[in-house]
Amino acid sequence: MDDFDLLRSSWPEILDTLKKEPVLTSVSFNSWIKPLIPQKIEQGELFIVVPEGMMAISVLNKKYLMLIRVAIEEVTGLSLRIRFVAPDPSVKDDAKESREENAFERAHLNPKYTFDTFVVGNNSKFAYSAALAVAEQPGEVFNPLYLYSGVGLGKTHLMHSIAHFILENDPSKRVLYVTSETFTNELIDAIRNRNNQALSEFRDRYRNIDVLLIDDIQFIIGKESTQEEFFHTFNALYGAKKQVIVSSDKPPRELDILEERIRSRLEMGLTADISRPDYETRMAILRKMQETEGFRLGEEIMDYIASNITSNIRILEGCFNRIKAKSLLEKREVDLSIAEDILKDFISPEKERRITADMIVDAVSEHFHLTREDLTSRKRNSEIAYPRKVAMYLCRELTTDSQQAIAQILARTDHTTVISACRSIEKKIQTSDETKRDVDVIRKKLNSGV
Ligand code: ADP
Ligand code: MG
Repeated sequence: MDDFDLLRSSWPEILDTLKKEPVLTSVSFNSWIKPLIPQKIEQGELFIVVPEGMMAISVLNKKYLMLIRVAIEEVTGLSLRIRFVAPDPSVKDDAKESREENAFERAHLNPKYTFDTFVVGNNSKFAYSAALAVAEQPGEVFNPLYLYSGVGLGKTHLMHSIAHFILENDPSKRVLYVTSETFTNELIDAIRNRNNQALSEFRDRYRNIDVLLIDDIQFIIGKESTQEEFFHTFNALYGAKKQVIVSSDKPPRELDILEERIRSRLEMGLTADISRPDYETRMAILRKMQETEGFRLGEEIMDYIASNITSNIRILEGCFNRIKAKSLLEKREVDLSIAEDILKDFISPEKERRITADMIVDAVSEHFHLTREDLTSRKRNSEIAYPRKVAMYLCRELTTDSQQAIAQILARTDHTTVISACRSIEKKIQTSDETKRDVDVIRKKLNSGV
């Protein structure tokens, strides 16, 4: 639980404490204190929305600031500075806004993660469309929706986007987003209480909803009672035609320890993956950041970042933010050589080499003493088929090429060949030292450029 969660769950108690304060009459309590809405905590500062606006803010600042601070500290132990803020003036219907805000808060959503702020590239087009379709008709088109990708590629962003979209259309919809860690912890708490009430409250919470989003489902794997509870939750919601959305770092069939019955449930709906973004998409994401952050990097630096950070958008954002911070702090423009220095932890010199599928085919041929023609031939004997699979696996790992493109380079007509090759090599790496060594040696050669 973070500080803000603690504060929000203690808010009723904080109000009670204030109510008992002798210097506060019940009229003042009702007019000034009761309507307050805690909004967020940033760097030790608590933002509180004052629905009544500026007049109330000045009264609060003059008369009640210390009282509120003390009550918060008394109840939660948190020592916070307080800033009262007016509601967003662009919103006309205050009551509606605060209802919606509450709905978003209840659903645990990050306001920045919406469909509007998601940059769609070839790598994410399918997942994006699937997410939008589900958001438009929850429970009706693809149920469950299963999203998977490597870290930092936008799963959480898309899940929050779906939840935002549904709540914006219909704030009365009961939408719940949780990480699988939260799900697990809440379940453990409920079980630990050893009374049936706690467990039935847990079940009510997860089953009486319209849309359930569980992020990073891979973390419930192997935890038997959590898996079991998830299975029942899933069945209850699915049976009632409620939408379930799940994300993971792997496709369902690769969730090794997951029970078969759960795996097959997860495969019933639609599965969509997000692969690594290509260069154009990475540039587009940086451009979008320039817009939303109101800070320009310049083409040269953007190109430098986009050429070097290929596999994780969170790191791409991290690079942007570091340069922005440095520039604002030192009040000067950042040029490429300063940028290189700032980003040296993210971009190491050996990673600057861009590895292409062609280079991989060459390196693999050389390693196995074959020719390029062998690898791209129709031959299926294992002396050739195995190196070919290694080549496909390395293309998938080291380049951003699509499965189709990789199939083409190795003269295969069907991209599913690439999928099964990758799976086969991944398994072999676990079980055979020889395969692990082959892959490591070729990867090293490619990285060092010899
Ligand atoms: P994951 O859950 O897959 O690890 P996140 O959804 O947390 O990834 O994304 C990491 C960061 O990158 C977030 O700040 C997110 O907003 C941003 N991001 C990811 N994909 C995109 C995208 N296509 N467009 C814009 N921002 C993105
Ligand atoms: Mg995530």
